[in-house]
Amino acid sequence: MTQITNHMPTAELQALDAAHHMHPFTTQDELAGRGARVITRAEGVWIHDSEGNKILDAMAGLWCVNVGYGRDRMADVAARQMRELPYYNTFFMTTHVPAIALAQKLAELAPGDLNHVFFAGSGSEANDTNIRMVRTYWAELGQPERSVIISRKNAYHGSSMGSGSLGGMAPMHAQGGLPIPGIHHIDQPNWWAEGGSTSPEEFGLERARQLEKAIQQIGPDKVAAFIAEPVQGAGGVIVPPDSYWPEIRRICDEYGILLIADEVICGFGRTGNWFGSQTVGWQPDIMTIAKGLSSGYQPIGGSIVSDAVAEVIGKCEFNHGYTYSAHPVAAAVALENLTIMEEENIVEHVRDVIGPHLGAKWEALTEHPMVGEAKIVGMMGSIALTPHKDSRARFAADPGTVGYITRERCFANNLVMRHVGDRMIISPPLVMQPDEADMLIERAWKSLDEAMAQVKEQGLW
Ligand code: PMP
Repeated sequence: MTQITNHMPTAELQALDAAHHMHPFTTQDELAGRGARVITRAEGVWIHDSEGNKILDAMAGLWCVNVGYGRDRMADVAARQMRELPYYNTFFMTTHVPAIALAQKLAELAPGDLNHVFFAGSGSEANDTNIRMVRTYWAELGQPERSVIISRKNAYHGSSMGSGSLGGMAPMHAQGGLPIPGIHHIDQPNWWAEGGSTSPEEFGLERARQLEKAIQQIGPDKVAAFIAEPVQGAGGVIVPPDSYWPEIRRICDEYGILLIADEVICGFGRTGNWFGSQTVGWQPDIMTIAKGLSSGYQPIGGSIVSDAVAEVIGKCEFNHGYTYSAHPVAAAVALENLTIMEEENIVEHVRDVIGPHLGAKWEALTEHPMVGEAKIVGMMGSIALTPHKDSRARFAADPGTVGYITRERCFANNLVMRHVGDRMIISPPLVMQPDEADMLIERAWKSLDEAMAQVKEQGLW
């Protein structure tokens, strides 16, 4: 068998890939027809492909490479840990130093009484843990009927049966028998797309009060928890109106339901604080973490749990866990990642330097004729594409058509931006420097110009 390497011709790699590798969230036949882009190496905020292109990665992979690519220290720690203890589990009354050290560090970084960590291999697994944990919590308190978890439409919480059910993605629910029972979805606070003629503030309140209505309709004694991302990421970087979160917090307090912050994207500096819930001003009972925890260098996730919840769970055997819960190599790499973040003041860099620098230029994209609104919190941002800003009109094409065209123009200009429908989103590595942010904006502007020309040419405006 020939050895498959970076040096093979791209077409051969693409053919082998299409023949044997099934890609996530992809129409495989379409991929086979055009060939996947082969990424070969990366450093800082840059990725390289097999055709010799050097591409600005404004998505940090999948929102995860917070400390940037090419960190030797992470590789060194992984190699050291693999030599010393490549694997051991944390079932059956055993533990190991990387698990102890990472849990302790997370307890120190997480706000308030979030002092306990249940590890998983990914964000999806961690959210599955959360479903079982909050239901077990109420069962242990003698209220087993308190099992409904409220989430939001267009939320993304993972791809497993549980986490995909928590998520509110209609195309995912259409396949494979999701959602599981006991998950209820309310509308999202997406004013641009759904706000109609109400003001953002009124709309934020109205959407938050849907939580209260849902609790009353389901019965307060049946609701276990509410889960949400501080800023919806994969849903399109939806920044709620300012009125939204205080009202949600009031409702959760009033009805005593647990609040789960999905910090898989927002955590670890992305919003200019260690955690997104700090940026939006509320204290969760459980946090879902993954992605930026290890900057994607190793697959690891988890749930950071409050004293109160951990105390209740601690009284029973929680029949739950993964072979790779607290995997020693992943835990050691995650700890090194957090050390780098602290030593290089990366959270402060986002809050005081690169967040404001990129933010001002990102918001100025509304001067482009095709951009209706531009939102950004720290280093996660979105723009809404529209043919008519004042009426927030849609294009004369299926939603996502223009977003896709724009994404393809970005790729052609060596910029990775993603589209969610007709919203373009970014989530760059947090270590981005001002000159790189300027390049991002320059390329985004050029791509928007080119996409607009194409859209007009195709009569979609
Ligand atoms: N929650 C959120 C908010 C996410 O963005 C993601 C992944 N995009 C997940 C959970 C699932 O994480 P994973 O892909 O690691 O399972």
